[in-house]
Amino acid sequence: MLKHDVLILGGGPSGLSTALHLTKIAPHLTNRILILEKEHYPRPKLCAGGLVADAEIILRRLGLDVSEVPHVDASAAHFDFAGRGIKIRMPKSHTIRVVRRNEFDHWLARKTREAGIEIREGVTVKNIIRNQDSVTVETDQGDFHAQIVVGADGSNGVTRRCVLPNAPVYTARVLEVITPNYSEIAAGKSTPRNDEAYFDFFPVPDNIAGYVWDFPTQVNGKPMRCWGVYDTNLLSDQERPQLKKPLADEMARHGFDLDDYELKGHPIRWYGPFNPVSVPRVLLVGDAVGADPVFGEGISMALGYGAIAAREISESIRRNEFSLSRYKSRLVWSGLGQTLFARWFIAQIIYPIKWRWFQILLWRMLKPIVILVAWIFILNWGKRIKI
Ligand SMILES: Cc1cc2nc3c(=O)[nH]c(=O)nc-3n(C[C@H](O)[C@H](O)[C@H](O)COP(=O)(O)OP(=O)(O)OC[C@H]3O[C@@H](n4cnc5c(N)ncnc54)[C@H](O)[C@@H]3O)c2cc1C
Repeated sequence: MLKHDVLILGGGPSGLSTALHLTKIAPHLTNRILILEKEHYPRPKLCAGGLVADAEIILRRLGLDVSEVPHVDASAAHFDFAGRGIKIRMPKSHTIRVVRRNEFDHWLARKTREAGIEIREGVTVKNIIRNQDSVTVETDQGDFHAQIVVGADGSNGVTRRCVLPNAPVYTARVLEVITPNYSEIAAGKSTPRNDEAYFDFFPVPDNIAGYVWDFPTQVNGKPMRCWGVYDTNLLSDQERPQLKKPLADEMARHGFDLDDYELKGHPIRWYGPFNPVSVPRVLLVGDAVGADPVFGEGISMALGYGAIAAREISESIRRNEFSLSRYKSRLVWSGLGQTLFARWFIAQIIYPIKWRWFQILLWRMLKPIVILVAWIFILNWGKRIKI
């Protein structure tokens, strides 16, 4: 008999959420699940750490209170073109909660262990081999076997490369930098931005199909800012400036010099509706399938993927049938699948129509329409995820 029914490869939000949902809907599986994580918590993860309400809804339904994690609450979010545009403020609560991923993932891993699930740290997965009656996972610490394997190993993960080597991949380029707060750097040089989050789409006419962000954050309790630039790569066939240029320009406008800080980059794989998401005995969750193409938002999505995957896994084990063939339709018809499809569709419109006048129209003049579309298609999907 196999020692584990389910091996989860990767202990980020998607892997941990899959385990937590599984143990909630099928408690008898708790000690039949093993998570393999190549790093040791608290491990660094390049990410701005912006949590939207849907992430908090999913965590709350798992009985978890993310306010236990050090955070900064952004009271409003601005969606601008060249400094002017739409301001969104959630009624009666923060608009975005900003965490540091080393702290958030460590907290979630602790909660997962408290729920009785084993996590083995410092184990790097090298290869995945599907057999007739099981899956073998080869790692630097030896081989593991299970009925089902969950690829939760992120945008650069090995699982997808092993089981779906020919599936198309859509990858965004992302750069991020952490700076001191305005009061320390930019006093007198620009109007300080305090507890609000900013997204500015001014780079789109220059063929950078994305935006520059500026979030409030904290590092070891000290107020800081997190800046970055996101490019879906949808305009990669056209001439573009270096990705760091719009970030440097925006920071300079606010009194910061990008060259004074350490710039880091990491890709984000984004969702395409026609991509396969599983093969018999192996399914993918989180960035291994794809994050939101419009913003590169992926933490709430990762948590949502976990809920949907858990249901497919528990039913497969109950029926002793491991094709995982219903996972894709579960995903597509869920609140998560609907918002991912809508965001994929929106990205195909707002980025390739890159003319300046269109971007001005969108972010400055069509406010009621943009807010309505965001309310219906971008937000409020977490409540529709079945646990
Ligand atoms: C610069 C940047 C900024 C971002 N900002 C935001 C934001 O503000 N808000 C938001 O919602 N999203 C943001 N994202 C996206 C978000 O970080 C991801 O969508 C999210 O982390 C996906 O979670 P995941 O669990 O699928 O993957 P990950 O968080 O990448 O976790 C994968 C885990 O698998 C482990 N792993 C990888 N390979 C192996 C292996 N071979 N063996 C064992 N373990 C392995 C890794 O160590 C890691 O712990 C940002 C991303 C980037 C790059």
